[in-house]
Amino acid sequence: MNGHHRFAALFLWVSLLWIPITAAEPDATTRYADKAIALLEDGISRETVYGEGNVPAYAESLRAIFLAGGFPPESISIIPYGETASLVVRYAGDGSSGRQPILLSSHMDVVPAKTDDWLRHPFELQEDDTFFYGRGVLDNKFDVSILTTLFVWLKESGFIPHRDLIVAFTGDEESFQETVQQLTREHRDLIDAEYALVVDGGGGVLNDAGEAIQFQVGFAEKTYATFSMTAKNPGGHSSMPRADNAIYDLARAIQQLQAHQFPFEANEITLTYFERTAPLLKNEVGDAMARLVMDPNDAGAIAILRAQPEYIGTLGTTCIPTMLSGGHAENALPRAVTATVNCRIFPGHTPNDILRDLQLIADNPRLEWRVIGVPVTSPASSFNTEIMNAIATALDPLHPGLPIVPKMGSGTTDGAYFRAAGIPSYSLTGIFINPKDSFAHGLNERVPKAAVKESLRFWKAMIDELAGDPKK
Ligand SMILES: [Zn+2]
Repeated sequence: MNGHHRFAALFLWVSLLWIPITAAEPDATTRYADKAIALLEDGISRETVYGEGNVPAYAESLRAIFLAGGFPPESISIIPYGETASLVVRYAGDGSSGRQPILLSSHMDVVPAKTDDWLRHPFELQEDDTFFYGRGVLDNKFDVSILTTLFVWLKESGFIPHRDLIVAFTGDEESFQETVQQLTREHRDLIDAEYALVVDGGGGVLNDAGEAIQFQVGFAEKTYATFSMTAKNPGGHSSMPRADNAIYDLARAIQQLQAHQFPFEANEITLTYFERTAPLLKNEVGDAMARLVMDPNDAGAIAILRAQPEYIGTLGTTCIPTMLSGGHAENALPRAVTATVNCRIFPGHTPNDILRDLQLIADNPRLEWRVIGVPVTSPASSFNTEIMNAIATALDPLHPGLPIVPKMGSGTTDGAYFRAAGIPSYSLTGIFINPKDSFAHGLNERVPKAAVKESLRFWKAMIDELAGDPKK
């Protein structure tokens, strides 16, 4: 699709590489921002959704950019996986610090988009005065384009890090997340690092006035686990009802779940999140956060926060029924009825712990339970002052003193697999956006155009802090 655009984007990229340096030249940030936008345009034109087989060609096109930017062929690996692939690029340092590498990770695939539903074509980069639009323009081709451009910029400027830097772009983050598992299991040597910076999610939060109010860093993720519970019954003809009925049995179990509340839980990450978010809200919810930080037994504060869908997931494990199926004929007694229950499990509990809880809550030993899929449990990443200080320094020129807030996510990103493999992982981007404008996974996905230069500056400063000359 859109081969024309792809060609134009690559042509723009290559031609920019050959512009001779003159006094009238725009500053480096502007030049590399233009390159990042050309890459983004090419990336958006590729419909890298699950099953379409378009990721490997995207990876090849990125490989060409790294090669043109001076990376030796042996530093670049494309690892095929079914119809998709990962791309790993190593930026060799001089090893002078003796430190383990830093891994920077994003993903090349996107969630599907139905062209008819969008105001603009989802697989063409479009723009107005404020935003770029397109599927993946925020999640996550923006950051793929930024990291690729950043590596080339650093290389062309002669930068030699004191430790290796590794970029890993996975190929199925939005579907089965098997490419990240392939990397951690079979190609550990390529991606092994002291820690991973997952450049996907997190980042700057703007309020409705367009002011930066905080910068979020993902430290942990809840475990995503789905269970099915099935009530079975001998059944029979509906003209001859029995006292016991699979639908009644299941309905009773669902009501037991509805009445249950998993206990309030907190950890260093969630308490720091509440502590730093409280003063920004200036309302009852903010007050409740502040009270909770002072006294984690404040039941009133917990009740106020639990009533907010935005915050309930930060207060403990949640489980909620999401699907129902059952019965086989309108004139037959049901023989099997199943409810699907989706849980987001607070760090520290296994899916089996929660399954046992659910069985006790449902209080019917005849129900049959199953775990759907393979839940991945990951530990929280420890506080890392080096990373937090680097973020503060990188943000300082534009947003001095901006609160940096650790967050616990409620989904499963590639970071969970890095954590599960023993690589502490922190998710953040250089993008500042109002959550209302995000539309990731949704219709008319957009990213502020200003984010291109801001992100390049942010990440350049981050790399300088984390891997640059310490004497500077
Ligand atoms: Zn993503």
